[in-house]
Amino acid sequence: METGTDSEIGKLLALQELDVRIRQIERELKDIPERKKLEEDRLATHKQDATKAEDNQKGRQASIKELELEVESRRQKILKIRGQQAELKTNKEFQATESEIKSIQGEIKGLEDKELELMSNLEEANRQLGDRKKSLADEAAVVQRDVSVWDDRAASLEKEVAGLRAQRQDVVPHIRETAWLKLYERVFTRKDRALVPIEAGICGGCHMQLPPYVVHDVKKQGTLVTCNYCGRLLFEK
Ligand SMILES: [Zn+2]
Repeated sequence: METGTDSEIGKLLALQELDVRIRQIERELKDIPERKKLEEDRLATHKQDATKAEDNQKGRQASIKELELEVESRRQKILKIRGQQAELKTNKEFQATESEIKSIQGEIKGLEDKELELMSNLEEANRQLGDRKKSLADEAAVVQRDVSVWDDRAASLEKEVAGLRAQRQDVVPHIRETAWLKLYERVFTRKDRALVPIEAGICGGCHMQLPPYVVHDVKKQGTLVTCNYCGRLLFEK
């Protein structure tokens, strides 16, 4: 037959079951923003890589443009010299301009070789940029999916915990031993469980062998006995 005290313990155990689950959910909910942030940080790394690849590609394009301008200005210079050659008086002056043109042509050749090399680098940079953009798009899709999984999980946990809190509010008014309830709540804030069974004289929380007088007290009705070692509340199964 169930005694009054037993049923009070029973109600506290029912409350504890709710509280354990509520705490579990609250912890999981607290972790979710951090997990989402890790996902978003991962995506940010991919964005940085893509931006770097884009900067690299733009830098190479700019260098090529610069070389083209340098080549063009030298070509103009040659045209100008050619234009002036008609007015030259001596063969010596003519030879001097010819050798100047030759030297400028040499410069142009050097610049064009450099340009060719940059063009082939640019192709590589374009390929890299394409790869980075592709991997960014892939990663963005994965992150978006994962984040929405976390959001769904959070929503479902919020719903579950709201239901559990409502159940808790239904249970609490039925507990007549309000001093026990207070004690239970105080211990529960510090422990995984506030109420643990005593079995063969051993505390179900810390697994220490309890002194015989404690075991004896637990058997008595109307008291709530605390474990000497861990402070959890003991009940006889
Ligand atoms: Zn204990």
